[in-house]
Order: sequence, then structure tokens, then C-alpha cells
Amino acid sequence: MEGFTPHGIIFLPLARMYDSSKGEKTCMKLHEYQSKQIFAKYGIPIPRGRVAATSDEAKQIAKELGSRVVIKSQVLVGGRGKAGGIRLAKTPDEAADLASQILAMQIKGLPVRKVLVDEAANIEMEIYLGITNDRLAHKPVIMASAAGGVEIEEVARLSPEKIIKVHIDPLLGLRDYQSRDIAAGIDLPRDHWRLFGQIARGLWQAFQDCDATLAEINPLVITSENRLLAVDGKMLIDDNALFRHPDLSEMRDLDEEASSETEARRYGLSFIKLDGNIGCMVNGAGLAMTTMDIIKLYGGAPTNFLDIGGGASSEKVAAALRIILSDPNVKAVLINIFGGITRCDEVARGILVALKEVKPKVPMVIRLVGTNAEEGRRMLADAQMITAETLVDAAKKAVAVAKGG
Ligand code: GDP
Ligand code: MN
Repeated sequence: MEGFTPHGIIFLPLARMYDSSKGEKTCMKLHEYQSKQIFAKYGIPIPRGRVAATSDEAKQIAKELGSRVVIKSQVLVGGRGKAGGIRLAKTPDEAADLASQILAMQIKGLPVRKVLVDEAANIEMEIYLGITNDRLAHKPVIMASAAGGVEIEEVARLSPEKIIKVHIDPLLGLRDYQSRDIAAGIDLPRDHWRLFGQIARGLWQAFQDCDATLAEINPLVITSENRLLAVDGKMLIDDNALFRHPDLSEMRDLDEEASSETEARRYGLSFIKLDGNIGCMVNGAGLAMTTMDIIKLYGGAPTNFLDIGGGASSEKVAAALRIILSDPNVKAVLINIFGGITRCDEVARGILVALKEVKPKVPMVIRLVGTNAEEGRRMLADAQMITAETLVDAAKKAVAVAKGG
């Protein structure tokens, strides 16, 4: 999902795997309203408000709040404000009107299905506060800036010194003196230090308890009533830890996910979408990475990482091929199977099933070696695939045909 740049992450060179929107796929994104509900449980002050799916609901919520409200699109991308997805409404009627406009929008290609209706804050100052992992330092890092808000990426790029970073020892947790250092570092007025400390501690606790890879408030505002308030919230949860967070898993928004990824998950395939044009189907994560590297070595680029796993059934193989071929960017497919536990005849059967369903318009290169490879090849003899003996041979052929050679 291009364009979802968690603000915090761009500050860290080694978190670039997220920034480039590749590794980010191994995280589940929470909506703003979900993140803020979690924050509230950790003592972080958030505006009063609720989610609406229709303009009538939005109007009702605005009535109940009895104040100026802000109508906020709930889509899993950043920069909603700049895209027109965050609007202030003075009356319930205006709220209904703006909600229906926003609910009809697409933001960076994502349809808006829900809006958050929050009591509007009177903002005096916008602060950035976020926690993520600094892979280089092998530690979480908390970051803050007095120049928070929608321009934080620009601040990070043009004046990184305006962003204070403090590493957190995972065994000690965030210490109070560290919160004070940050408060001082961003010139936060003294009277806010105590609550700021509580908010930072809450954010750290939420980050830790949820196995998050990002917990971010941008902006954390000082209101004209001189209160601190988390106006926006963003959390990414490590996919690999979701098994121990059934409550968080339930928050996954299938509507907002690329359907190929949802489909892949259903079949237990490890799948990550990338931006090249050679679709890959491989068994084993190591072999899949090697395959991607070799494609790059010969001047091509993979469209995806896909590991069908060991001992994959023909249904799984068929699903994998369907998913690969559903991507319009795919100009060639490279199937690289090293049969160990996985049997090549079973893989061939899956390929035949998939080929019957989806008539591929792109050339397919296959390298099949190992257990029952002979039989697998025999089964595929009529399938009009380009065969290769070695991985190098397969990669060269795939790159050539992807270029139209
Ligand atoms: P983002 O653009 O996706 O990061 O969405 P945000 O929730 O951060 O909103 C973007 C900007 O809209 C904020 O930086 C604020 O300047 C503004 N904004 C959001 N909520 C309010 C509000 O309650 N009152 C006012 N006055 N401005 C708001
Ligand atoms: Mn924001």
C-alpha cells in the first residue's frame, strides 16, 4: 500500500524496510479510532467521539457531542488532512453534509467507509510523539518534536535536529527522567510536563503490550484551554505477534487490505506484494529470497515474495498462482520449486488446476527439481511453460521474457 508512511518511521534509516512499503506488510495497521481507543485505555487523553458509517449517524453523533466537531476519514493511509479527508463542522447539519462528502471519497485509492466524529479541539500547538523500533540500535526509540502536525515528514527531511530521539532500554522501560528530557528538548511549557510524562508512559506501555512496531500521536495538541490531547493516533502491530492478541486480530479491516494479501492469508501462504513485474512462486522463504535476489542480479524485479511452504497441497499451489496472475503488473512468472518435503508432482497438479481457471496471458518459466521432479515435468509437458534446469537459467529466462524478449 504505497503512500502509507507512518510519520515516525522515516526518521530511521534502518526502518527503511517499512518506509519502502515492503516490510510494512508484515504489520497490521490499525485505524485512527482503534489506535485512540487503545491509547485511552493507557491514560492518554483523547477527544470525545465515535465512528459513523453514514451521514445520519454522523449528524446524530455531532448532536450528542453538542459542539463543533471534526469529521475524519478512517482509511489506512497517512496525509488524510492534505487529501481533504479531515474537515471541521460547526453544526450537526454541516457534519452530516461533510460526512456524506467524505464517505464518497477515495483517499490514495482507498474508499472511505467510516468517519470518526470527534469533538473539535481548539489547537494552539501541534506536537509529534511516536515510538518505533530502531533496528540499528536494537532498541525502541521515542521521538518527539514541537513541529508536529501534517508537515512532520518535511521537518524530518529538512531540519531533523528539531526531532528529539531517546532510546528506551526494553528491560528498564521508559524512565521518567527520559520523558522530562524530551519535554525539555521540545521546549514544552513546564505546566504540561506531568501529563506529558503520563502520556509518554502510556504510549510506551501500549507499544509494548500490543507488540506494536509503531505507536504514534501526531498531533498531540495543546488546546486553547491549555490541555494536552491526542488528536490523531496510529498503531502498527507486528503480524507475527498477533497470535497472542486475539482482540487486536479482530480489528483487522479486511475491506482496506489488498485482496491478494487477504486471499494469501486464507490459504496460509506467505505473500508480500512488491513493485516489480516478475511474479514468483517458490517453496521456502530462503529459496524465495534467493530467487528474488537472482532476478535482481540479472536486471529484473520481482512483483512479489511468495513462499508456498513445505509440503504444499495442489489447492495451495493453485491459490498461489491465481494470486500471482491477478496482479496486472505481472509480465512473467517464475516458478522455482526445490522438492524436498514438497513433491513436484503435487505442485504440477496445482499448477494444472490453476491454469484451467486462469488462462495466463504471460509467459511462465519453471524450474522443478527434487522429489518426483520427473513426474512433475511430465505432467506439465503440454502446459506450454518455459523450462529451466538451473536457477540462474530460470532467472535469465524470466527476466528476458518479462522484457518482451
Ligand atoms: P492526518 O492528516 O491523516 O495525519 O490526520 P490528522 O488527524 O493528524 O489531522 C490533520 C490535521 O488536521 C491536524 O494536524 C490538525 O491540524 C487538523 N485537525 C485535526 N483534528 C482537529 C481538530 O479537532 N481541530 C482543529 N482545529 N484541527 C484539527
Ligand atoms: Mn496525523
